[in-house]
Amino acid sequence: MKIDILTLFPEMFDPMLSTSIIGRAVKNGVLNASVYNIRDFAKNKHKQVDDYPYGGGHGMIMAPQPLFDAIGHVLSNSDADTGKVILMSPQGKVLNQEMARQLAQESHIVIVCGHYEGIDQRVIDKFVDIEVSIGDYILTGGEIPALVLIDCVARLVPGVLGNPESIQDESFSRGLLEYPQYTRPQEYEGYTVPEVLLSGNHREIERWRLKESLRNTLKKRPDLLKQAALLPHEKELLKEIERETEVL
Ligand code: SAM
Repeated sequence: MKIDILTLFPEMFDPMLSTSIIGRAVKNGVLNASVYNIRDFAKNKHKQVDDYPYGGGHGMIMAPQPLFDAIGHVLSNSDADTGKVILMSPQGKVLNQEMARQLAQESHIVIVCGHYEGIDQRVIDKFVDIEVSIGDYILTGGEIPALVLIDCVARLVPGVLGNPESIQDESFSRGLLEYPQYTRPQEYEGYTVPEVLLSGNHREIERWRLKESLRNTLKKRPDLLKQAALLPHEKELLKEIERETEVL
């Protein structure tokens, strides 16, 4: 996947693009990431990228010229003519795992990070395919949201994770939260690992994991359960959990 990042603060991306799983994917060429400084595209003498808002009001707005040129540049430089332009914005659709899955299928994404009071609407009208928010709160810039988006999308790109099966079971993969996980030792400070996980009985382990996944979701995110398309045996397990909870 090709990822072009347009930002006023390129240095914020260096650590992520050179560290851990994402760093390895960039090094191996599975991810082809480039970071562009929007300021480099400003044509005015002082390389100014922002200006006062028409109609008055506080704060500054990122001006159209540097962004038109920067986005035009990365799109025209691309082999694929279908780069998807994403603007990080608190007004966007809130990022979730399904959105990440869809974006991971793109061959080229262009991520635009806003700053100040945001960007001139004409940039959005001309180029932006999708506005993405990371939650209903306001940050100073789109860099942290872009880092979140890149991490969550990139790990779904084939070849990025060492063990791709780990994606199948994890939280949100089927609209449910994951089951509790344990590693060695078997007993730690009086806390033990559930017996079934030591049994070697894979059918029982699978059943336990499914049940605990349903229990976790019911306890922590009942809203997810309302939307999940549960299979008949999962509905049965859920009833079992509800009966157990009533007894307590
Ligand atoms: N005045 C804008 C508004 O009310 O919608 C907020 C601008 S914010 C201070 C500056 C930039 O940070 C935005 O252009 C966007 O790129 C980024 N940003 C802030 N909060 C965000 C969020 N929750 N999700 C995604 N991007 C965000």
